Amino acid sequence: MEGQLDNVLHYINGQFVEGVAGKSFANVNPATNEVINKVAEGFEEDVALAVAAAREAFDHGPWRTMSVKERLEYIVRIADLIDENAEEVSELESLDTGLPISQTRKQAARAAENFRFYAQMVNSRLVGETYQVENSFVNYTVHKPLGVAGLITPWNAPFMLSTWKVAPALATGNTCVLKPAEWSPLTANKLAQIIDEAGLPKGVFNVVHGFGETAGAALVAHPGVQLISFTGETKTGSEIMKNGANTLKRYSMELGGKSPAIIFPDADLEKALDAVVWGIFSFNGERCTANSRLFVHHSIMDWFVSALKERVDQIVVGDPMDPDTEVGPLIHRKHWQTVMNYIQTAREEGTEVVSGTVPAEFEKGNYIAPTLLLNCTNNMRVAQEEIFGPVLAVIPFESEEEVIRMANDVIYGLAAYVWTSNIKRAHRIAQAIDSGMVWINSQNVRDLRTPFGGSKYSGIGREGGHYSFEFYTEPQVIHVAIGDHPIPRFGTKTKK
Ligand code: NAD
Repeated sequence: MEGQLDNVLHYINGQFVEGVAGKSFANVNPATNEVINKVAEGFEEDVALAVAAAREAFDHGPWRTMSVKERLEYIVRIADLIDENAEEVSELESLDTGLPISQTRKQAARAAENFRFYAQMVNSRLVGETYQVENSFVNYTVHKPLGVAGLITPWNAPFMLSTWKVAPALATGNTCVLKPAEWSPLTANKLAQIIDEAGLPKGVFNVVHGFGETAGAALVAHPGVQLISFTGETKTGSEIMKNGANTLKRYSMELGGKSPAIIFPDADLEKALDAVVWGIFSFNGERCTANSRLFVHHSIMDWFVSALKERVDQIVVGDPMDPDTEVGPLIHRKHWQTVMNYIQTAREEGTEVVSGTVPAEFEKGNYIAPTLLLNCTNNMRVAQEEIFGPVLAVIPFESEEEVIRMANDVIYGLAAYVWTSNIKRAHRIAQAIDSGMVWINSQNVRDLRTPFGGSKYSGIGREGGHYSFEFYTEPQVIHVAIGDHPIPRFGTKTKK
């Protein structure tokens, strides 16, 4: 992937188009801070065109009226094309986001699986209920798509996360407008090219690029959009809910996290170490489910910290395109500065900061060495706030009660990881933790059938499995008279 790429355009009504205002913004390579290409900048007018196209395709196009079999064949075709283009998808993703290529390759494969999964799922879930009402009525339900789905996605793992939304939205018969994050437009553009090649009817899938406050806000406020599926920061989620209130939307909110990993002395410590290191430093630490708070039992603290220091020192920081790289640059200089500020805050809060190294040749990029914050307490800012970088806060604990209290003492509730060989304790703690997902003696392996999402400030609703099917459809009940029944007769009395 050499030199500059073609500029990125919106994809509206089956065409790649410039924005109405003719404006664009620069897309920057996080490994070098050099411009990769220009991206069409969308505003309210572009969103209006995209929603109108999606509305027309929903109301009058063939998408909703074609047979389910035919629609799902399109979905499988998208999966096949993602597989065929997987290497290009992962290269674009690594170039655009700084995520190491060894990790984006797995994500491209997972994205194709998402489409196949929803093609199967929708087929098996398009069943309803019937109610026999004495001998007078039969009532039955059908599941219908809602209309135009507004899909707003973040820059961490942007391709894979967008397919969590696009696949179920389309498979259930909705049309959609995707607003990808401004810092990572390349793979959304590739998805548009793939969907275009798959031959979906025009207007079914649209992409408007641009910034959150303009393009994103216009999509949320648009009365022609029935639902918003959002993944991103908690404060953005809250802003979106306020902004969409006047047009009464349905929401799915996948938000931030500050997830605990809890290590007991009876755990398989080598495995726990592998999992903790992977859980915080993979995806450059820019991962919603990262175990960014590590609770270690005081009796094993010395061993665990010295093992962590060794790993941090050895982690390969480098070019995201190099298959040996384990940690690449952060997405953007602004985000780099935020994470650097947190490391400074950690120093001021009195933690011991231990970092690996970034080779000198990478100084132009947004690199931050894997970093440990030792001797933290759970009330420090660096233990309470989502840093979203390769930074691990390490906190000692004495007892089960204490660690449960600390694990829950945070506004977020996305994920948690428990490491112990005591099976009763493992389940007890898992159930006591207020988070949407808990992994016991494992790290982030997820079957596509299971729900994904968080409690508290980490989100509303769940994605994945049949939860997405329910989000993108609504039941309609049809009451059918099959026998005689009295109907009150109005307007048949003689007026006094
Ligand atoms: P962000 O909230 O800054 O942006 C996400 C998207 O929202 C972008 O497309 C952005 O342009 C758009 N946006 C911003 N302001 C908007 C507005 N007022 N109206 C409409 N759209 C707006 O998030 P980010 O920095 O791109 O992503 C990182 C965050 O995402 C982290 O907090 C992370 O934990 C979270 N995340 C959560 C999950 C999950 O499943 N829970 C998964 C991945 C990332």
